Amino acid sequence: MKIVVCVKQSADGEINPFDASAYETALGIDGAEITLLSMSPEKTAPFLESLTRLGAKNAVLLCDRAFAGADTLATSYALSLAIKRLCPDFVFCGRQSVDGDTGQVGPSLAVRLGFPLVTNVMSLKSTENGLSYTDRSENGGNISAPAVITLEKSRKLRLPSIRSKVKPVEIFSAGDINADISLCGLKGSPTRVLKTFENDSDRRSCTFISPDKLMWAIEEGLKKGRQKIKPTESASKLKNMWCVGSSPIEFAKTVGENITVIDPDTPEKTAEKIRLGHPDAVLWGSDIKSKALAPQVAALLNTGLCADCTALETDGETLYMYRPACSGNIIAKIRCETKPPMATVRTAEEEQKKIIIGIGYGAREHIAKIKKFAEKINAGIAATRKMVDSDYLPYELQVGLTGKTVNPDVYIAVGISGAVHHIAGIKQSGTVIAINSDKDAPIFKYADYGITADISKTV
Ligand SMILES: Cc1cc2nc3c(=O)[nH]c(=O)nc-3n(C[C@H](O)[C@H](O)[C@H](O)COP(=O)(O)OP(=O)(O)OC[C@H]3O[C@@H](n4cnc5c(N)ncnc54)[C@H](O)[C@@H]3O)c2cc1C
Repeated sequence: MKIVVCVKQSADGEINPFDASAYETALGIDGAEITLLSMSPEKTAPFLESLTRLGAKNAVLLCDRAFAGADTLATSYALSLAIKRLCPDFVFCGRQSVDGDTGQVGPSLAVRLGFPLVTNVMSLKSTENGLSYTDRSENGGNISAPAVITLEKSRKLRLPSIRSKVKPVEIFSAGDINADISLCGLKGSPTRVLKTFENDSDRRSCTFISPDKLMWAIEEGLKKGRQKIKPTESASKLKNMWCVGSSPIEFAKTVGENITVIDPDTPEKTAEKIRLGHPDAVLWGSDIKSKALAPQVAALLNTGLCADCTALETDGETLYMYRPACSGNIIAKIRCETKPPMATVRTAEEEQKKIIIGIGYGAREHIAKIKKFAEKINAGIAATRKMVDSDYLPYELQVGLTGKTVNPDVYIAVGISGAVHHIAGIKQSGTVIAINSDKDAPIFKYADYGITADISKTV
């Protein structure tokens, strides 16, 4: 079974954690013949070469000046040509990269290759006719070749043995894959970053309270309820705004005069409806299905898609999309050069519980006690990535940039330092209560109520 695993080196020099999971999953498949594929500058070659020591047959580095500045559409174009040349049975991608953070390349690749797509896969096994899978929603099924599969961060990459040999890294240029230069790199990228600025919009004003006031603060938060995200309305509006599904409606109203909601359908049927309806812009929610469907429709329409927007703006002609970048530290203002511009907007995943308790590394010794408290106040449980990476809590509970987004009435952060990566997933919460023994912990900058105490004396 020939598997191409698409990998990207993160800014920290490590393999993107979702790609690591994709590679480790491929390595666990009996008889898999793995080729690693990366589109990046030539200096990435040693990184790819060292990854081959784990068991890949070889690696291909897609490297040409023409590829520079590519957005997800242009990236998937170049990758798809390289994959066509490699003729694999399956293509594995990480669900998203943790720097670009769009999750668009896998679904877009599937369209460009004409392969079926399965997203958010947690585990895979080889079968007589291909592979069987279980996804993040605990659905499962069989997939036969060819197919594109995107993987969740459910596996850790093993360490290579120093004795294992490196395999060759072949370099493909734009010419080698017969790429049309006008569709590559910046030239082929419909989305343009207009400017970036510091993101301090998530900060709250924290009132410090004593531990015995915790229940009072929870009651106050429940009275206030869920935060209504009220993005600023533009003075001029776009005439014909479309939403796929109803979740982005509140965002659509800020920039659209007439809003049409269409039901999600197959990528082909949705693309056809959009082609015929000529909307000024199309919005999607950020649920799992929309995040898989939107990039496929964008690839079919050859238009730009901006992921995880937190605000929209228009002058009546152009749609401007705002999204967090660089792990949420900055906000980028983006415009799309093609029609219609499309965006997924950051809506919280469905969460029934009004209260969620986020458990951080500082609370790792108190999980049982916190769970009991959660039961008592009918709260759900969430986790930081450090808790998940250290195997204290399962990945499904991870909240943040590389986890899910929650918007309860009350979020209680227990033993959480308040890294921007975690804050990205809780900022839509109504009231944030932080419990931390360190009075200088950053979490207090993002909390409405703060309790500086040891967890053992609070919950
Ligand atoms: C690209 C990237 C993506 C990431 N994505 C995510 C993500 O999606 N979600 C996420 O959560 N993180 C993410 N991270 C990791 C993030 O940067 C932080 O490392 C992580 O959130 C820290 O987890 P923590 O707060 O549980 O642990 P720590 O940072 O170790 O904080 C523990 C806190 O507990 C407090 N504490 C200790 N003991 C006690 C006690 N007895 N009582 C009270 N308080 C106590 C400490 O003062 C400290 O503030 C990402 C990182 C990167 C680089």
